[in-house]
Amino acid sequence: MSQPFKDIKCQCGAVINTNKNKRWCEKCGKPVFYNPKDMGRDKINTIYIVLMLLSGFGLLIYLFIEMIAGPMSMFK
Ligand SMILES: [Zn+2]
Repeated sequence: MSQPFKDIKCQCGAVINTNKNKRWCEKCGKPVFYNPKDMGRDKINTIYIVLMLLSGFGLLIYLFIEMIAGPMSMFK
């Protein structure tokens, strides 16, 4: 799965020569994509990961509140 090297222009204007699907811009640190279509896919992946983290984090907070609020309500 090797592809020819290609000049990709970053949003900041820097040109990166790469044959990798995703690279980080050396100037601004933003991701640069070999195939512009990958940009949308990467965004969906990021959203998916964020949603997974948020739901995991939400569950932790829920359990934490249950642990704190449970014993607290006994003192009322
Ligand atoms: Zn850049």
